[in-house]
Amino acid sequence: MLKSKVAVVTGSTSGIGLGIARALAAAGADLMINGFGEAAAIAAPGDCRGPRVDVLVNNAGIQHVAPVHEFPLERWDAVIAINLTAVFLTTRAVLPQMLARDWGRIINIASVHGLVASVDKSAYVASKHGVVGFTKGVALETATTGITCNAICPGWVLTPLVQKQIDALAARDKLDPEEARVKLLGEKQPSLEFTTPEELGALATFLCSDAAAQLSGVALPVDGGWLAR
Ligand code: NAD
Repeated sequence: MLKSKVAVVTGSTSGIGLGIARALAAAGADLMINGFGEAAAIAAPGDCRGPRVDVLVNNAGIQHVAPVHEFPLERWDAVIAINLTAVFLTTRAVLPQMLARDWGRIINIASVHGLVASVDKSAYVASKHGVVGFTKGVALETATTGITCNAICPGWVLTPLVQKQIDALAARDKLDPEEARVKLLGEKQPSLEFTTPEELGALATFLCSDAAAQLSGVALPVDGGWLAR
């Protein structure tokens, strides 16, 4: 389905990004993966001569957990920069060439925290709400073109980012790893199952399909019922 399309997935050396990169590659796309290795080459704003990008998945993200009154400014700035400002920068970089070809798919990996909050995650929640708002803005600006822009809002996915939170919960409540995993899920995700990178990869692939041509500006929860409570 994506043969001859080029996809860039930020933060795709692990976790959700890797799952999405694998799914898009399986659908035939040429993949540019990105993480803490070599910088990915993306055309500069207004420069259509750079490498072609048909599908942009803004996935790279970080978390920091602390109450607002103890939240370090340096961590706040890092979360906003990586989770939100980077989404703007990559989108600005690829849009000119997508507009020139009148086709593109921009998929932002937000979170359920783009739609609701949890305690001690103020920077993350603010950044992800920002991503959902930005997604709507880009969708409106590209509404009459062949470009769509959507956000995927996962609940808990068992990746290194979440493993750190399970480890912190286990240490805080003196639980073994399995007990901590069950407690983490039980507090938020009614299915008591993690969303998987493979499921998110399948959704991203669908968003790239012709069937999703009129699907733009939405925030799609994949959260085992988290937001239904
Ligand atoms: P992860 O830690 O496994 O992956 C994050 C990726 O981002 C890594 O590949 C890392 O190298 C990359 N990254 C981090 N900082 C970067 C930077 N400055 N420049 C380039 N790459 C950078 O985490 P994950 O859970 O797979 O998270 C991926 C995305 O999904 C994030 O945006 C996260 O907020 C979101 N998300 C995760 C969950 C979850 O439960 N894991 C839930 C909802 C949303």
